[in-house]
Amino acid sequence: MNVTKAEYLPIDKLHPFADHPFQVKDDDQMDQLVWSILSQGVMTPIIVRLMGEGEYEVVSGHRRVHACQKAGIAEIPALIYTLDRDAAAIALVDSNLHRGYVKDSADKENWLIDEPAAEVVRKIFALCIAGRGPLQIAKQLEREQILTPTAYFHSVGRAATNPLPADPYRWSDSTIENMLANRQYTGCTVNFMTTTVSYKVHKTVYKPREEWQIIPDTQDAIIDEDTFNRVQELRENRRRPTATGRTSLFSGLVFCPDCGSKLHFCASKSLKPNQEFFRCAEYKSGRGSCTIHYIRNVVLEKIVLEAIRNLADFVRCYEPVFLYMMAQKTTVGKKAEKQQLKSTISISKRRIQELDKLIERIYEDNVLGKISDERFAGMSANYEAEQKSLIAIVEASENRLREMEKETVNLRLLLNTLRECTDLKELTPTVVNTLIKRIEVHNNDKSSGHCFVKVDIYFTAVGLIDIPTEEEIRRMIREIQANPGAYRFSA
Ligand SMILES: [Zn+2]
Repeated sequence: MNVTKAEYLPIDKLHPFADHPFQVKDDDQMDQLVWSILSQGVMTPIIVRLMGEGEYEVVSGHRRVHACQKAGIAEIPALIYTLDRDAAAIALVDSNLHRGYVKDSADKENWLIDEPAAEVVRKIFALCIAGRGPLQIAKQLEREQILTPTAYFHSVGRAATNPLPADPYRWSDSTIENMLANRQYTGCTVNFMTTTVSYKVHKTVYKPREEWQIIPDTQDAIIDEDTFNRVQELRENRRRPTATGRTSLFSGLVFCPDCGSKLHFCASKSLKPNQEFFRCAEYKSGRGSCTIHYIRNVVLEKIVLEAIRNLADFVRCYEPVFLYMMAQKTTVGKKAEKQQLKSTISISKRRIQELDKLIERIYEDNVLGKISDERFAGMSANYEAEQKSLIAIVEASENRLREMEKETVNLRLLLNTLRECTDLKELTPTVVNTLIKRIEVHNNDKSSGHCFVKVDIYFTAVGLIDIPTEEEIRRMIREIQANPGAYRFSA
């Protein structure tokens, strides 16, 4: 399957995939997609198949094509695959067969949310946010007598790859892990995740993540984008229980600002719960290379609870001011950075093309004898080196742009959770995991005779926040009133 780089194709050269499996609906989500395309362009290329003579068949991305038509945009980025029609149809449908969706009985090529299964999917994601690991989730589902995916398929008479298991409630932690990592629950299609090497052994080889093709908005979402991204972040910071089996709400989230290591949660039988503490992993009872960075778990709980309450109070009383601050901090800064990145990308791409031409020209000059072999070798090496570094720059800039998209989405989850936190009496894993991205504990400072520990709390999506003083709030309200359009911020 040959993949070429994304190219901009004229919309009027695209033809819908005949009897394609997904309906394009003119609904609210379509309006959102149109707005997103108008403000940011099409972020993910569509997939097309060459039909010949500059005409293309859309394999995937019908919604984006429709949105571009509505938005009056003439061109769309596309990946052109050289697939025959059958292979294209298989690639499209195969990638959508998974738990949580079911074929529409009225239209065999339309996928609908399978509500009983989707409920289990949502429960698994919620349990993860609540701090449970895959094994704990598996055990809980077993206790609650929830059918495993294979048993469920059998129970409703759907085709399943595996035979009916002896124990229909025995979930494995790897099933849970796979479900927690399945981006398709956000409503997109992940194409070509696996590739079959040999038809004889029928062994499936997983492709590296960078080679996956992600196509948004191909079916209704079971899990929203924010929750999915938060779960991926939590899964990256896997938490280990201590020898005593006791865990802290903050395990995996606390870091040392001096050496960058995690702080270890220390709990032993000899310690009472209010004596459990964190210390830098590099300290090792004085033998390591870092200072202790000691803080008791109960103290950290108090500090974090107060920080969340203060922020929630501030947001409840002055939400426009909070959004104004975020807009200044993120959107304005981001707009400039985005602009910078986009211009870097386009300038670099132009130069890469120029270099191609230059290399071609000196090659011709060399063939015609206008420049010596030695000089040609030197010049072409220089051009190629420049090209290589430009390609790296383009790649890094494009990655950063994608990363920035992810950050704006998370603000919604933060605000929604904060709105529920104004009367918070006690921290829960869900609150901590949703709101807090990272905590840094500085080494205690005894220079003044008192013991001060500085703790930096990085909130999801917004990072460190200093709650403004009354005076600063009044100043910002005046600024907002003077220029109401300047802080427009979607959350
Ligand atoms: Zn350290």
